[in-house]
Amino acid sequence: MTPRSYMKRARVERTACDVHVPPAADSIIGHCEYYYRPLQCEYTETVEKVTAGSVWATVKAFATSWDPWTDKGVSARLLHQRQTLIQPDCTDSDWSRHSNFMMRHIGCGHKPPAYYVSYGYFYCSNYGAKLKPTLSQAGKDWLDSARWYLQANMEDGLKQNMKGNNIQMSSAKPGNGSFKMTVPQYKLELDSDTFKSFAFKTHPLAYLDGGLADLQLPDMMKIMGGPALEEWGDWRTYEQVWDSGKVVAGKTIGDAWDAINADIADPVSTTLGRLMGAK
Ligand SMILES: [Zn+2]
Repeated sequence: MTPRSYMKRARVERTACDVHVPPAADSIIGHCEYYYRPLQCEYTETVEKVTAGSVWATVKAFATSWDPWTDKGVSARLLHQRQTLIQPDCTDSDWSRHSNFMMRHIGCGHKPPAYYVSYGYFYCSNYGAKLKPTLSQAGKDWLDSARWYLQANMEDGLKQNMKGNNIQMSSAKPGNGSFKMTVPQYKLELDSDTFKSFAFKTHPLAYLDGGLADLQLPDMMKIMGGPALEEWGDWRTYEQVWDSGKVVAGKTIGDAWDAINADIADPVSTTLGRLMGAK
């Protein structure tokens, strides 16, 4: 490639607005990098700076306001391989849903859904990495399985949004829930709040298909101590598939959930621990 032809091509690629979301490669489904790859120093520095207590709120706020295009080095690197990164089933080491979005929306004002960076990548890599060693083997298996389902569901929703205005999804295993959502065709990825609503609706399906309801309480308490309540969705979804024989100090998990909602500032694990009479 001559410098001249590269200059010409690069100039053409400075403007793009391609709303067609190509499918991810099967090989990346189940990996945190599916959502985002920390190519940007700004992202890495933010995650390193924030303290444990405020980390989730900080990363969420950061993901909403962050403009990845301000990193000229990374932008040039991605632009240089734009044609590769926008292909369906791309297996390039720089591909992520986030980088793929960036390469399809250049100078058009669209921003990648904050979910890709915040809940998607940050939760997956940071929270997941800390949580995993504390879990039993069954809990570890659940974490891997739920992650796979989360991303497979995301692919399913994006694919449906390429075909029409409705997204409907049922759990892979019978009885783990379903949802329907109206989203104008091609718009799912373009509105950060709509995308977040969609993604959160897929969480109960993925958590339960991953086998959450089969886990024992010590694993459950550790897992529930992580995600903020809004990301769990409607608790009745979980209660419906729960083994009714499982009780927490004479209370059902549903009672525990009510107690948590009544005391929302309290971390979930602390409340469950109190219900169980644990320290
Ligand atoms: Zn655009």
